[in-house]
Amino acid sequence: MTGTGPRPRCVVVGAGTVGSACAWYLQRRGARVTLIDSELPGQSTSYGNAGCISKTSVFPFSVPGVIRKVPSWLLDPTGPLRIRWAQLPRVAPWLYRFWRAGSARRVRQIVAAQASLMEPVLRDFDDILQGTGSEFLREARGAILLYESEKAFAAEAWKFRERERLGLEWRRLAPEELRKMEPAVRLNGGVALHETLWQHVTDPAGLTRRFADDAVQRGAKWLQDRVTGVTAQASGVRVSTQSGRSIGAELLVLATGVWSNRLLGQLGYRVPLAAKRGYHVMYAQPTVELKYPVMSASRHVLLIPMRHGLRVAGTAEFAAIDAPPDYARARALVESARHFMPELGGTGISQWMGQRPMTPDSLPVLGALPRHPKVLCAFGHGHYGLTQGPTTGRIISRLAFGEDPVIDLSPFAVTRF
Ligand SMILES: Cc1cc2nc3c(=O)[nH]c(=O)nc-3n(C[C@H](O)[C@H](O)[C@H](O)COP(=O)(O)OP(=O)(O)OC[C@H]3O[C@@H](n4cnc5c(N)ncnc54)[C@H](O)[C@@H]3O)c2cc1C
Repeated sequence: MTGTGPRPRCVVVGAGTVGSACAWYLQRRGARVTLIDSELPGQSTSYGNAGCISKTSVFPFSVPGVIRKVPSWLLDPTGPLRIRWAQLPRVAPWLYRFWRAGSARRVRQIVAAQASLMEPVLRDFDDILQGTGSEFLREARGAILLYESEKAFAAEAWKFRERERLGLEWRRLAPEELRKMEPAVRLNGGVALHETLWQHVTDPAGLTRRFADDAVQRGAKWLQDRVTGVTAQASGVRVSTQSGRSIGAELLVLATGVWSNRLLGQLGYRVPLAAKRGYHVMYAQPTVELKYPVMSASRHVLLIPMRHGLRVAGTAEFAAIDAPPDYARARALVESARHFMPELGGTGISQWMGQRPMTPDSLPVLGALPRHPKVLCAFGHGHYGLTQGPTTGRIISRLAFGEDPVIDLSPFAVTRF
């Protein structure tokens, strides 16, 4: 699969799942790659996510009626949403765009675009897991989804009809079936589904590290440094770093997650990107064993069996990028999960916070900058950066070699805002 043309020199900034996958695909195609991050690979948002490869997650977070639920979410201390009030003036324009993205017509367009990007994710995972010898880090059992009542499920039934139309599988579980699959889960009169197409990664940070390490073994250069400056001309790009390096290349890939506006701004662009924080609690020795990821759609909490213990993940908190974490949000996740798993607990507890790079329409930003065609965007994956990392890497490598990206990238353009 090596490119036949010249081998472009590419700088990839950001070694999260997205940037590491870009580096891996570019290197395998024969590009000359330098991967730069101020942290080690996979130590930022890609470190502690829920690990789900959720191919059927094609719906945006802004859908008709969602705004009406916001006040009750904000008033509930264990609820799924929090806005730090000092942040409201900065978040308000983003929330306005979020609300605008939730019209029935926009939602249909967003679902179609997201489905086109989700369609190849399992194939691309097969490819990169095989190529990096990482298959042992993936489970392909699907996931269990819970609704707290028939009414709550009925309110979202349209999503499942739409999923069926797109050929995305799921099935309803009888209570005794759920008991057999996951004895620790209490249904309490609610509804359980099996999302059969979901897979999960048991160590997202370790997997990201493997993508980056394998790219380096294939010849990519790794540089731990902060990129402080970017310039781009028709002929190529140049980045400068905190330690005083200046690196020229033909192509620059911006895979800088929630921090992307800092470098984009130097080129005269700005994207409405919110830091939508999530948290996790890990039990190295949990009191309950799980076989499947279990997600409460009503409570927005996920429990995931990981290589190093049981992870409870979720929540949405809007705060400034540099604000300190509020681990009360992590504790609230556990409290919320105990509604459907009362025995949840354990020892060897650790907590973590990560910042999802979130656009108002829930779609990532992919492709070249209009006035700087040598700069390729690969950020803004929000809740699905693990799921879409390998596919993004493949698409970016095709663009780098002047090939058709296979899917229509116009819904993902930086200019759409
Ligand atoms: C609680 C939680 C649960 C989640 N669960 C899932 C899930 O189940 N499935 C899923 O698909 N997604 C999930 N996500 C989302 C997923 O984690 C993110 O979408 C993904 O990690 C984003 O990857 P990234 O590579 O874009 O960003 P990051 O991992 O944040 O990487 C960006 C990197 O860029 C570097 N960087 C930025 N600026 C510079 C600079 N100037 N110089 C050098 N380096 C720079 C940063 O140091 C960072 O390492 C979850 C997120 C959270 C918070």
